[in-house]
Amino acid sequence: MYDILIVGSGPAGMSAAIYARRAGYRVLLLESGIPGGQIVNTPEVENYPALAPISGWELAQQFTRQVKALDTETCRGSATAIENTGTFFTVHTTVGDIPTRSVILANGVHRRKLHIPGEQTYLGHGVSFCATCDGSFFRGRDVAVVGGGNTALEDALYLSRLCRQVHLVHRRSDFRGQKLLSDRVAAMPNIHLHLENIPLGISGGHAVDTLIIQNITDNTPSVLSVSGIFVAIGSEAGNRDFSPALALDQNGYLLTDEACRTNLPGIFAAGDTRSKPLRQIVTAASDGAIAASSAAEWLDRQRDSH
Ligand code: NAP
Repeated sequence: MYDILIVGSGPAGMSAAIYARRAGYRVLLLESGIPGGQIVNTPEVENYPALAPISGWELAQQFTRQVKALDTETCRGSATAIENTGTFFTVHTTVGDIPTRSVILANGVHRRKLHIPGEQTYLGHGVSFCATCDGSFFRGRDVAVVGGGNTALEDALYLSRLCRQVHLVHRRSDFRGQKLLSDRVAAMPNIHLHLENIPLGISGGHAVDTLIIQNITDNTPSVLSVSGIFVAIGSEAGNRDFSPALALDQNGYLLTDEACRTNLPGIFAAGDTRSKPLRQIVTAASDGAIAASSAAEWLDRQRDSH
């Protein structure tokens, strides 16, 4: 029986683990992928206060070392459902059922897909969702990045240092990402902007060789000869299966109060999975600390009432 089961080992989950372990609670950190979550896909983190620019991978390693130093129990698996037995919770996971007195959902988000012909066929054969993981396979070649947020801008900048030409395809004329990044993108001679264009299809032989895009104002198609296509069009939440009683916003993000409490007592949410105005590493880490503190308060109240 754990005091707190934390679902997800990104900055929110690891920060929750650090705070809960330091407060002396028995914690299990359930990791469904590589510890660090989405940040391991980030080439460079420049906006985590007090840290000089650092790769997302290295920042994830630093979080992990801190979690391990506190003897946090970890387990590789994904949560599929949460059942309230009345006195405790049973979290159903891909590695069995785990009893716990409280739950912190820090399960993050999934990368959104384009859903165009060829995307699934060429996944791992030219189509990628992670520039830092796969960029080096395309050294000296031509690639495309699709998206207009911070991830797409950072991916384009990262790839421009490895690849010959980078085609950045975005459906609007303005970028959603930060101006600092879009200015840097505009200044890179080997990044070519294809604004107001949407991707229509991906083709090739054994691997990708073509991305077809279409201008949304005049419907003109263009053919980009590329070996790699990096899809960076945002993320979506995957919270619908945990419990039908958990309140979600219209996009499937968990609704919480300021103390990261969901509508179900004993279940808390932290990080990108939560309905919130700003999804950043610093806000995820902050959520983790708040959720751990709220879980501790709830556990103490439960103990006092028995
Ligand atoms: P995002 O901010 O949601 O941007 C997604 C982009 O993809 C948008 O430009 C969107 O276009 C476009 N898009 C969405 N669906 C599309 C489709 N079906 N076809 C074509 N384009 C599509 O996602 P993100 O860039 O992954 O960032 C996610 C969060 O992480 C954000 O809060 C971001 O600020 C944060 N982040 C921060 C940093 C940093 O601070 N350094 C780095 C990375 C990520 P529209 O603009 O037209 O909607």
